Amino acid sequence: MADYRELWKSLDMDLEKHDQLCEVLPKFYDEIYLSQEKRPEGMNYFNFVIAEVHGLRIQELAEHRKNGQKVVGSFCVFVPDEVISAADAVGVGLCSGSDFWIPDGEKYLPRNSCPLVKAAVGAKTSGTCPYFQSCDLLVGETTCDGKKKAWEILGEHVPMHVMDLPQMKREKDKIHWMDEIRIFIDELEELTGNKITEESLARGIELINKKREVLQRLYDLRKEENLPISGKDALLVTQIAFYDNPERFIEKTNELCEELEKRVQNKESVFAEGTPRILVSGTPMAVPNWKLHHMIETSGGSVVCEETCTGTRYFENLVDNTGETMEEQIKALSDRYLNINCACFTPNPGRIDDILRLYKEYKADGVVYYTLPFCQTYATEFKKVKEALDKADIPVIMIESDYSLQDAGQLKTRLEAFFEMLEPKKEIAAANK
Ligand code: SF4
Ligand code: SF4
Repeated sequence: MADYRELWKSLDMDLEKHDQLCEVLPKFYDEIYLSQEKRPEGMNYFNFVIAEVHGLRIQELAEHRKNGQKVVGSFCVFVPDEVISAADAVGVGLCSGSDFWIPDGEKYLPRNSCPLVKAAVGAKTSGTCPYFQSCDLLVGETTCDGKKKAWEILGEHVPMHVMDLPQMKREKDKIHWMDEIRIFIDELEELTGNKITEESLARGIELINKKREVLQRLYDLRKEENLPISGKDALLVTQIAFYDNPERFIEKTNELCEELEKRVQNKESVFAEGTPRILVSGTPMAVPNWKLHHMIETSGGSVVCEETCTGTRYFENLVDNTGETMEEQIKALSDRYLNINCACFTPNPGRIDDILRLYKEYKADGVVYYTLPFCQTYATEFKKVKEALDKADIPVIMIESDYSLQDAGQLKTRLEAFFEMLEPKKEIAAANK
């Protein structure tokens, strides 16, 4: 990576502490990613993005700001990127997936808060994340209690806008979410000085739909018997979708998909035949949280799909682009977003339907249900998910784990035992075909 110290200094970062962070990431990445065999050539672009994660993209953001554009950071797949793009602002998903930020987060939040929230607060307050430092506005949402209260604290450090997400999906909730989108439009117009019009919103919808389409193209390739890409690599692509330049991301991911399609034609797989296929379901995995995928794929399994916000919840369902008036477009946005089945909703039968559907579509052999510690909504929802999976005779294991590697050995043992248990089930299913 080139020398970006002047840039980081201009962002008021704690350079000494940031050096410590920069020391850890490359080693971690080499071990988890570059050690994989049969990686597609197309992953080189994504390696480059990670190598430059605090460099080139930050420089691009600085250039955007120099040209008068605003940078808007968000934490949840409910924040409509289409509106950010329509305001000619630059959206970045803020990763809060590192253990490094937890101690700083714990200076402000109770220890028994979810790691994602603690890392988000720690990343900002420690001054070690150049993305947080580049944002002109952060957008939070009222999805879970931990986040709601954390926004009040983050709001003391940076301008903050909070979208009030309803927790049910009745007609009145849809109307309420449309209202929240309208308020968000006003906020962005004020921030950027740009008027959001039907035309600019249509362009935003088109762009973000394209981003979702390319991710769907990538995920469709994971439905193949011969897996052309590892789960770890697919996860990385989705994580990068949150902060990369969208046009470039679409182009590079399409190139990757072309290579993967050739692999499929040639029946090339990155895993040995018979490797158990795993659907991961649960809480999001922000960069650099690659722990669970790494554990699964070094314990004898392969991840074929993620029913998470760094997976299908991010890109499934496009926004209807036929609306001509602003009201029709806002309704289309509201309809698409309120179709996301996050565990913060009650009741939430749609998520169970999604898990059952994805299990079939991706020809999975088992489900790994993942939650971060202290995530009440996802942990509690496991009961209903398990009941539905048991009824459908689908094997499932629940893994609760934070960002640290302390439980790695124990996790590996549990996963290996789970995969062994899947073998006889697979044989019975094959015999019944
Ligand atoms: S799990 Fe829920 S709250 Fe968290 S990012 Fe996803 S939609 Fe947002
Ligand atoms: S993982 Fe759970 S507790 Fe953490 S921010 Fe998301 S919904 Fe909230």
